[in-house]
Amino acid sequence: MNFHDLFIPTKNAAPADEVSRNGQLLQQAGYVDKLHAGVYSWLPLGLRVLENVARVIREEHAAIGANEVLMPALQPKTLWEETGRWATMREVMYQFDDGHHHDVGLAATHEEVIVDIVRRSQPTYRDLPYGLYQMQWKFRNEPRAKSGVMRGREFLMKDLYSFHASAEDLQTYYECVHEVYGKIFKRCGLQALITEASGGTFTKRHSHEFQVLSPAGEDNILHCPSCGYAQNVELGTSPTCPKCGAAASIEKSIEVGNTFNFGDYYGTAMRCTFTDAQGKRQPIHVASYGIGVSRLVGAVAEVHADDRGLVWPASIAPFRAHVLIAGKADDALQKQASAFCAEHSAHVLFDDREVSPGYKLKDADLLGVPLRFVFSARNNGRVECTERATGTTTILTEAEAHARLTAL
Ligand code: ATP
Ligand code: MG
Repeated sequence: MNFHDLFIPTKNAAPADEVSRNGQLLQQAGYVDKLHAGVYSWLPLGLRVLENVARVIREEHAAIGANEVLMPALQPKTLWEETGRWATMREVMYQFDDGHHHDVGLAATHEEVIVDIVRRSQPTYRDLPYGLYQMQWKFRNEPRAKSGVMRGREFLMKDLYSFHASAEDLQTYYECVHEVYGKIFKRCGLQALITEASGGTFTKRHSHEFQVLSPAGEDNILHCPSCGYAQNVELGTSPTCPKCGAAASIEKSIEVGNTFNFGDYYGTAMRCTFTDAQGKRQPIHVASYGIGVSRLVGAVAEVHADDRGLVWPASIAPFRAHVLIAGKADDALQKQASAFCAEHSAHVLFDDREVSPGYKLKDADLLGVPLRFVFSARNNGRVECTERATGTTTILTEAEAHARLTAL
């Protein structure tokens, strides 16, 4: 694709009102635009990254047979009163009168809605388990939205809910989702530690968070370098590892995912039941599993960046390569570069702007696409290939350059 045909409003400097590194970089590179605190627009490049992350998530959820759905953001108070969360979530949930004497709220999460859907389907033990997920925008009235896209008041979450006839079946599925989460974060270039945390309001069990170590994180976790165990410090940890007794350290981290085993809480509180083999109605066992999709993009921007800009892992990068012509772009060179790009059209960003090569090189670093190909008369038909992550430059034949691109 041609740079000139895309809306990529890069800036010379980071916006002065943004304190987080991810927010600064993503705005300076033209990936997102800030409307007000914690509320961002996703511009063409940012949207490509967000959709790449969503694609990875969808592929891994398809592999365990989960079904994608899409639930409403506008939800009635009456449903939330069944679990008492209309009152307990008042601070974080946007709640208002719709002007027709109905109280409604904007979705901060979707347990109540999905449980309502499943209970009205009146499943039997033969129907279960169900794994239903969505990729949906959530609204939360966050008091301190200062972490860029990592703490939005409007943010994209992938939320999966599973429904089971027994605690054992739920446990097996729960562990399987943990494996899936590990794969998703790895594919997106993040090393996430499974961390024990409190279970929230409804369960005495621990929940499990997926935490990425980073000074930009808002969480503090105890991390044991010996056995790998991790625990959120909200649980009141000591300086030694509760698992193996070795000295552990407390580190800042970003919560990119969270899983909850609610047991039969929702089945009981919302009378969400299934018919067992004896024809008796029993409460369904429910778990929920969230990934902050837009936060994940922010976390990658925090972890994979340097003083020149973003450094995307190939799996989620907006393009595989950034192509430009250095020096005088005569017809032959122009033709060669265009033909090269045409073979990889959707994966390549061709910088066809009428600006200096220096300006293009600076933007290429800022944008952080994994490979940069420079066509220049100096190279006698060959192509200069630079890896954004390592800075390594090699001179390749065109065939080799094609191969490099295809291999990504
Ligand atoms: P936090 O403790 O960071 O406020 P949370 O525990 O309230 O998050 P969950 O309800 O567990 O969040 O939501 C699931 C996932 O959604 C989180 O693990 C996180 O990755 C993401 N998430 C939560 N709040 C936000 C937010 N305000 N902006 C962006 N992503 C968020
Ligand atoms: Mg959480």
